[in-house]
Amino acid sequence: MKVTEYIKNAEGNPLVSFEILPPLKGGSMKNIFKVLDRLMEFNPPFIDVTYHREEYIYKKRSSGYYEKTAIRKRPGTVGICAAIMNKYGVDAVPHLICGGFTKEETENALIDLNFLGVTNVLAIRGDARKFDGRFIPEKDGHHYAIDLVKQIKGMNSGTYLDTNIVNGLGTDFCIGVAGYPEKHFEAPNPKIDLKYLKAKIDAGADYIVTQMFWDNKRYLQFVKDCHDIGINVPIIPGLKPITKKRQLGSIPRIFHVNFPEDLVDAVHKAKNDEAVRQIGIEWCVAQSKELQAAGAPVLHYYTMGDVDTFVDIASQVM
Ligand code: FAD
Repeated sequence: MKVTEYIKNAEGNPLVSFEILPPLKGGSMKNIFKVLDRLMEFNPPFIDVTYHREEYIYKKRSSGYYEKTAIRKRPGTVGICAAIMNKYGVDAVPHLICGGFTKEETENALIDLNFLGVTNVLAIRGDARKFDGRFIPEKDGHHYAIDLVKQIKGMNSGTYLDTNIVNGLGTDFCIGVAGYPEKHFEAPNPKIDLKYLKAKIDAGADYIVTQMFWDNKRYLQFVKDCHDIGINVPIIPGLKPITKKRQLGSIPRIFHVNFPEDLVDAVHKAKNDEAVRQIGIEWCVAQSKELQAAGAPVLHYYTMGDVDTFVDIASQVM
């Protein structure tokens, strides 16, 4: 079923969903199942599975020279989605990115997903590779998420890249896109960022999942700003508890987000990481309850493999 149908059918009752990462190459699907076995207790209607583009690494050769090599550390998104749907009977939402894909490869990936019975995708651009410094699309790949949305929408109406295909069967993907309550870091200002977000919705995206945030006011203002410019699709808040002191530095650096002063103060005062984890859980539970009361359609948790923390949170929220 589609994410938007789950939301409609819930009629305002609380829903939770989780995002998981594929294991590092060489890792086991068993660990994903161990995590999901516990999260299924909260009846998530869908599970998001992230996509990870190849990264460049430099390997030292016996000659002393370094060789630039491309590796994908976390492959397997499509396989994990199929495994989740098969084992748990819940929907999986693969993240599909522009980076690293030509349009043809995107089309073929969507055909695979369609044949597997996947009916939801989160269409995103992907970040720049570390050594590139800025996002560089493939030759004949998409520059922005909106172009990916348009391709998926086209396939939904039976349009394929090969124009010789007539009467091609349409796919039926429900399309999610990313939104940023604190603005995407590359956008010159929030208004322009929202304008591009609206363009993704106008191009056919069905719902928005937000970047993680810790100040509900930011989300509520973002929802209002979206409504004010005519965005009327569900806006799913993305949540992640802070669990370690060092995340005060790493999370803003990686995700370009801010922590509220009160939270930072509390974490600074914490004696150790177990105390930070408790603070993070309390904060996330309070955030979740407030968002539920404010009518958030789904609470979407970025698990990053930390299942115990999310079991603690979800059991206090659901
Ligand atoms: P876009 O919507 O394309 O926007 C990118 C930037 O370009 C923004 O600043 C926007 O304002 C601007 N822009 C948009 N359209 C135009 C235009 N026509 N002209 C000029 N500027 C424009 N990354 C991964 O690699 N894998 C994942 O699985 C993954 N999952 C994510 C899930 C969520 C919920 C979120 C919020 C992010 C996720 N990301 C993931 C990170 C995401 O790929 C990055 O944030 C990326 O930098 C932007 O993606 P986007 O889809 O928002 O891009």
